[in-house]
Amino acid sequence: MTSNAKIVRQTTTLLSRKVKEAKTIAISGHTNPDGDCVGACLGLYTYIRDQYPGKQVDILLEPISKKFQFLKYAENIKQEKNIEETYDLYFSLDCSDTERLSQFQEIFAEAKYKICIDHHVSNTGFGDLTCVVPEASSTCEILFDLFDEKRISFDCAQCLYLGLVHDTGVFKHSNTTRHVMEIAGILIEKGVRPEFIIDETFYKKTYLQNQILGRALMESILLLEGRIIFSVLRNKDVITYGIQSEDLDGVIDQLRVTEGVECALLLFEKEEGVFKVSMRSNGGVDVSKIAQNFGGGGHVKAAGCTAQGNARDIINNISQLVEGQLEQ
Ligand code: 5GP
Ligand code: MN
Repeated sequence: MTSNAKIVRQTTTLLSRKVKEAKTIAISGHTNPDGDCVGACLGLYTYIRDQYPGKQVDILLEPISKKFQFLKYAENIKQEKNIEETYDLYFSLDCSDTERLSQFQEIFAEAKYKICIDHHVSNTGFGDLTCVVPEASSTCEILFDLFDEKRISFDCAQCLYLGLVHDTGVFKHSNTTRHVMEIAGILIEKGVRPEFIIDETFYKKTYLQNQILGRALMESILLLEGRIIFSVLRNKDVITYGIQSEDLDGVIDQLRVTEGVECALLLFEKEEGVFKVSMRSNGGVDVSKIAQNFGGGGHVKAAGCTAQGNARDIINNISQLVEGQLEQ
């Protein structure tokens, strides 16, 4: 048995025992929840409701994008704790460190028993039970392996499929394994409609999103003889156009596929002098290492951090690290 299979098996046993014992359960994911995070939180919530009725289960998560709201129970996501006392059991999903639980860090810290399920390489493990599988494409893949396949309902299947689609970039990133495709197949047999989930949540863009994409590409700049590409969205434009971080979906991916580029960077100035940095690599650079230098994290080919200062300095600092790795 591989060590991952062992971790998953041990977690499965303990997870069902802990869920059975708990009266109150909370589930959270990372700040600025993406498809995998939302799919994982709602997928686990649905599974627990289906299998263990009568529990008080809360999903504490930042408000989710409109495009994910078709998922069952999406309206149950909230930002306030529902109970007076501390939670018996708390799940942290798809979240590489406790800081990324943002406003829910304290409630998580107070919980009687904490389970961390994640696939980020940068996750060193926290909580009473840690199930980190960096080889997994997504947290939803790990959840599928933890769940009893026969007991996955259609509503739960839709959530897990969403996570697979988003973290594999519609089954095309290098994390798309045979296992991922097999899981996707099983979820389709449960009634999931791929074209609906993929178009509605991945490819469909608002007019504003397309405008931002056009502008970010138009104003992008190449460095290091075209091996780095970057683009910056300034706070004044963010305010003028009312740009939210979800409006940037797909922008960094389009930058990354520019011919000759090894590393793409997108800086989004969410407040004056505070930049959310997204990094993507085509394989020659480990961007998670670079993001960690700035207090962020992520995966080898997709990572991010928040950096303060002026955009030019941030780009200079990052590009030096990229250059350092390319020279090795
Ligand atoms: P994105 O560029 O799409 O925001 O993030 C890409 C990947 O990097 C995601 O897997 C995300 O979890 C990770 N990531 C992005 N920003 C941060 C951050 O500030 N801290 C950490 N630890 N990971 C991040
Ligand atoms: Mn994920």
